[in-house]
Amino acid sequence: MKLTSQCVNDLLHSLRMRTDLLPLCDQHFRTMEPVLAPYNADYCIEFFRCTEKFCRRCFGERTGYATPRREDAPVISPNQPVCDRHGRPMFIISFSRQHNHVTYACAEADCGERAVRA
Ligand SMILES: [Zn+2]
Ligand SMILES: [Zn+2]
Repeated sequence: MKLTSQCVNDLLHSLRMRTDLLPLCDQHFRTMEPVLAPYNADYCIEFFRCTEKFCRRCFGERTGYATPRREDAPVISPNQPVCDRHGRPMFIISFSRQHNHVTYACAEADCGERAVRA
């Protein structure tokens, strides 16, 4: 992956995404890894990507869980929990196989909002 200088410049002047988060894929519940990609000619995005080999699932701070499509807007999952306080998409922080539910958390630092979905 090649970064344009514009891309890097944008990143230096924008608030960095928290890469200390460890969101789980909403389909595999695998840990996602942070990646950096040019979104279009003058805009870069940082997002998390599922580590499952053939999974293209991503989590972005603006879009939440989405599947990117080539040269088109990403398909954003409906019905994703959004933080009441910040209005931001929440990420899956844990998954309980035993109870079969997922816990979503807000990506905002120090935000204690949680949402549980069965
Ligand atoms: Zn996945
Ligand atoms: Zn929040």
